[in-house]
Amino acid sequence: MAKVLAVFAHPDDESFGPGGTLALWAQANAEIHLVCVTRGEVGCNTTDEPTAEVRERELRAAADILGISSVEFLNFVDGDLSNRSMIALADILGKKIESFEPDTVLTFGLNGVSGHLDHMAVASATTQAFKRTAKEGEIYYYVLPKRYTDAVGDYFVYFPDGYEEDQIDVEIDVSLAWEERMQAMHCHKSQLDDILEITKNPAFQEKKEHFIVRTLADLRPPASGTNHDDTAAQ
Ligand SMILES: [Zn+2]
Repeated sequence: MAKVLAVFAHPDDESFGPGGTLALWAQANAEIHLVCVTRGEVGCNTTDEPTAEVRERELRAAADILGISSVEFLNFVDGDLSNRSMIALADILGKKIESFEPDTVLTFGLNGVSGHLDHMAVASATTQAFKRTAKEGEIYYYVLPKRYTDAVGDYFVYFPDGYEEDQIDVEIDVSLAWEERMQAMHCHKSQLDDILEITKNPAFQEKKEHFIVRTLADLRPPASGTNHDDTAAQ
């Protein structure tokens, strides 16, 4: 990968999710632009500072450790992404794809990984933007395997099942970036409860990250007029 556009909903999604992969790609000299759709202002905060400021600072520190080239906040309202905001978000992301021309777009799996509705909205809007405006490239959906989600206890409102092995396209061994990934996670110290929840899962220690990958051809049906029947009808 040369240019990666990574799109997530909250500060911490990048490190609690595919942080090892981002670090490996950065080590391979990829230029990674991270878009964080909200500033995470409804997350935990044990300081007197505004939560958004704490979390923005935590994300910028994590991004430095992972080797991410640039971080941009879109300032949508945390916890409030909806059908209406998805339309505006898809338009913004489409313009970013047109100007940045990434060869890889990375976001959450369409089930939101943890079932968080903000994650699902971001995944949908990113998919629509990619499908509509990309000229080439692939979209990587970060997902969890089922053996991981089977070990998740009573955590979050509804934590959907992960994916079976044959549904996952790419498994990346991130052991060579594990130190960076763990350091980046711990930059988000305001979200310590989540760090403890994620790291206690036995599958987390496999040091592997998983993706479903789709190309433009997968997402865009062939244009009419290119198949045999249409040609014959003309
Ligand atoms: Zn999140």
